[in-house]
Amino acid sequence: MKTAIITGGSRGIGEAMTLKLGEMGYNVVINYRSESSKALTEKLVATLSEKYGVEGYAVRADVSKYEDCGALVKAAVEKFGEKIDVLVNNAGITNNSPFCELSHDSYMAVIETNMLSAFHMCHFVVPYMVKANEGCVISTSSIGGLMGVANQADYCASKSGLIGMTRALAMEFGKQNIRFNCICPGMIWTDMLRGVNQDEVAALAQSIPAGKIGDVDDIANAMEFLIKDKYMTGQYVSPNGGIYMP
Ligand code: NDP
Repeated sequence: MKTAIITGGSRGIGEAMTLKLGEMGYNVVINYRSESSKALTEKLVATLSEKYGVEGYAVRADVSKYEDCGALVKAAVEKFGEKIDVLVNNAGITNNSPFCELSHDSYMAVIETNMLSAFHMCHFVVPYMVKANEGCVISTSSIGGLMGVANQADYCASKSGLIGMTRALAMEFGKQNIRFNCICPGMIWTDMLRGVNQDEVAALAQSIPAGKIGDVDDIANAMEFLIKDKYMTGQYVSPNGGIYMP
């Protein structure tokens, strides 16, 4: 049986990815952070078993913290063994705040949660992938990692950082059969988007060439593609409705 670990797998894009991993036949270690997501995650564990006959394992950890990432990976290995086939670094937060109003704590939280968490997770997981001579790491970046967005300096920096890390690790571990890729979603309907100024969301939505905000399944499908296509490494795919064209 194959094993996947996903950070921030409890809701939104992470929930859709968790279900897709189950559909693809993976046992899934589903990480979440907040108390309010405990029940959601446990429900996902039940759904994985009932719908796809795979095992889910809910693990609470704040992945912005190095020690928590270590404990998360330890728990995964104790449960499913040392072979970790897929790691999805998906946990993320946003501030959406004018730069001069950002507190040190709040921009550090964004950088630590969005970027350093992926660094920590790779630090703990990649050695197992090296041992297995195989692995696939996918990090959820953003179009904010590709283009500037006002009031999102911390978010954009964190998401660009993920792309930099991904490219460097793809170079370093290519011959060991470990692939690293990013997904850079455009605007997707989740709590994250519901949490920001809705006038700004509506205005931005007008400018999407596809004429609509994306769905979480669009991103889960991109993840499936990146897992299945064994020649993809060091890349990003950006399901974004055409809002950003390089
Ligand atoms: P949601 O706010 O719906 O979900 C965020 C997820 O991240 C939750 O599962 C949450 O866990 C988890 N999380 C946050 N902080 C931590 C932490 N410190 N430790 C562990 N888990 C944490 O967001 P989305 O589904 O929209 O976002 C998922 C990813 O997609 C993020 O990286 C985001 O930046 C990216 N993205 C989203 C876009 C969008 O338009 N929605 C666009 C581009 C990128 P809990 O439930 O416990 O709080």
